[in-house]
Amino acid sequence: MKKILVFTQIREEKVEENTLSLLNKLQEVFKDVEITAALFGKQIKEDWIQELGKHGVKKVYAINALELEVYLSRPYVKTMLEIIKETQPMMVIASGMVYGEDLIPRLAVHHGVSCAQRVVDFTLDGEDILFHTPVRDDQAIMITKLKGEIKFATTRTGAFFINENPTGGSPEIASIDVSFEPKDMIVSHVEIKKAERTVNLKDAKVIVAAGRGVGGKDNFQIIRELAELLGGEIGATRACTDVHWIEETYEIGQTGQSVSPDLYIGAGISGAPQHMSGIKAKTIIAINTDEGAPIFNYADYGIVGDMHSILPILKKKLEG
Ligand SMILES: Cc1cc2nc3c(=O)[nH]c(=O)nc-3n(C[C@H](O)[C@H](O)[C@H](O)COP(=O)(O)OP(=O)(O)OC[C@H]3O[C@@H](n4cnc5c(N)ncnc54)[C@H](O)[C@@H]3O)c2cc1C
Repeated sequence: MKKILVFTQIREEKVEENTLSLLNKLQEVFKDVEITAALFGKQIKEDWIQELGKHGVKKVYAINALELEVYLSRPYVKTMLEIIKETQPMMVIASGMVYGEDLIPRLAVHHGVSCAQRVVDFTLDGEDILFHTPVRDDQAIMITKLKGEIKFATTRTGAFFINENPTGGSPEIASIDVSFEPKDMIVSHVEIKKAERTVNLKDAKVIVAAGRGVGGKDNFQIIRELAELLGGEIGATRACTDVHWIEETYEIGQTGQSVSPDLYIGAGISGAPQHMSGIKAKTIIAINTDEGAPIFNYADYGIVGDMHSILPILKKKLEG
């Protein structure tokens, strides 16, 4: 059976959500393909292996080594190359988090082939895989085929949905022999320093976002209140962060964060592709005075009107 090898990324002691959503997407597109995962660390947790199994991975190469405690290019590349040699997958892929984006192109270079990066969709053309990648500020999609026995790709963060009810079972656990020499360890890890202020929009189930139509810094108060009532986070467009109505960490879109909430409420936002490309929401509600605003093309529910009148009504309703 053909295999796809997925590089697993761990964040804050959990399998990263973009890895899980990638697993879901792969199973949707590729039938009769066995998904194998590579999982590295100093002390791999059984929970991570089981989580991968639940999300459809049949076999996990769980490689424990001191040298694999944190991501470093050389030891990770070396270990992946051994697994690729053993498994001969049709594709090697990782979600486009920073480590995957470093690792996968290096593996492609080792095989003398190219790599599709920041993919947002896959389709099949007979036996060929078509990789869909946004280009030109997300205003176009480039579709590519890759040459070579093994395809290499990374995916864009927030591009796919997680299967909320995964039904997979316990995966087989595999290992390989890999040893590291001083030349593999030319970079040493010092520490990972957390940013002083972090906004976790990526994991938010509800986002109430505002655009230029909010009209000023103080008007973000109602956005905050609504987000709080809905148990969510606030978000913003670049039009707001550029003029410092709100910190940059709240920006959503091409240069901001990619988000995939269940509910996204966008008020006073025109719906520019650079903003909307960062949103993969189950439900989008848009509030805008201009009935021709592009955001209504993305919205499941649209309200044409002044956000300054509509949001207080919504707040009152939610307060009961
Ligand atoms: C390379 C590049 C990267 C970019 N990356 C990003 C990015 O990551 N994220 C991002 O957001 N943008 C990004 N942008 C900017 C993007 O192109 C848009 O300019 C921006 O998203 C517009 O923000 P906006 O919708 O808030 O403002 P506008 O486009 O000015 O829209 C404001 C909207 O509010 C409506 N409105 C006004 N008053 C009210 C009211 N009282 N009630 C209701 N509606 C009202 C108006 O009808 C209008 O539709 C990028 C641009 C470039 C060139």
